[in-house]
Amino acid sequence: MLKEIVVISGKGGTGKTSVVAALAALFDNKVLADCDVDAADLHLVLNPEIIENHEFWSGKTANIDKSKCINCNKCLELCQFEAISDEMVIDKISCEGCGVCFHFCPSGAISLQDNLAGHWYISKTKYGTFVHAKLGIAEENSGKLVTLVKNKARELAAKENKSIILVDGPPGIGCPVIASISGANLVLIITEPTLSGIHDLTRVLSLNKHFNVQTAVCINKSDINQEMTASIIKNCQENNIPVVGVIPYDNSVTKAQIQGLSILEFNPESHTAQIIRKMQEEIITLIS
Ligand code: SF4
Ligand code: SF4
Repeated sequence: MLKEIVVISGKGGTGKTSVVAALAALFDNKVLADCDVDAADLHLVLNPEIIENHEFWSGKTANIDKSKCINCNKCLELCQFEAISDEMVIDKISCEGCGVCFHFCPSGAISLQDNLAGHWYISKTKYGTFVHAKLGIAEENSGKLVTLVKNKARELAAKENKSIILVDGPPGIGCPVIASISGANLVLIITEPTLSGIHDLTRVLSLNKHFNVQTAVCINKSDINQEMTASIIKNCQENNIPVVGVIPYDNSVTKAQIQGLSILEFNPESHTAQIIRKMQEEIITLIS
């Protein structure tokens, strides 16, 4: 039966992508998905060969046909986002596509046009099929793109008869994260023993509890504050959340990433690689 593992963190910079890359090297028969569409970086380790490139259209942007404009200034007065300049040019980044100007323009000079908000891809990688995406600069609706990436990964997994979908999720607790964890069999939270790390972990845990998703925790850079690491472990035990990995800081993880490799390829016998192997075994037990 197909199982979905989503790896998230309360914020960026916890080493989430390095852990996903290492797990990608270990799991067989899987489809990979990068749902961190605002700051996708899993491709840096996977070196994907893009085999399909699709446009992602989302939302609307207003456009003014100056030849029809009678300079009544109604659109300027009504736009709540100050997206229209005195020269009747619409700033595409500020325009929210609300349509107010379009509806109230007396001369029909304004049209609403579909917005090319990004691209999504299906690629081949050394670790298997990979679905990923890139949202355009200042584009919104990343939740919608995350859902699209996940659905494509599910379609491909079913078609290729895969048993695992491994997802690199977005940071935070907003709409893209909710889109990424929906339907997951396990959410693995990567955290670090800092005050902000604990704060973010608490927020993400309550989100998972709210959506009733099975959760496990991995503490990365555990030795930067042993006391906080112990406190996270205790907190997780009290809440029946398994801590499946405790990974001390390891400079070679960064070196591996710079070379476009996972730690499993860069140094398969390292302490970090061994911890991640053990973590994968625990994950398999949890989702079985
Ligand atoms: S669509 Fe809305 S946000 Fe965009 S220019 Fe018109 S009124 Fe402003
Ligand atoms: S509302 Fe229409 S006619 Fe009036 S200034 Fe704006 S674009 Fe021109």
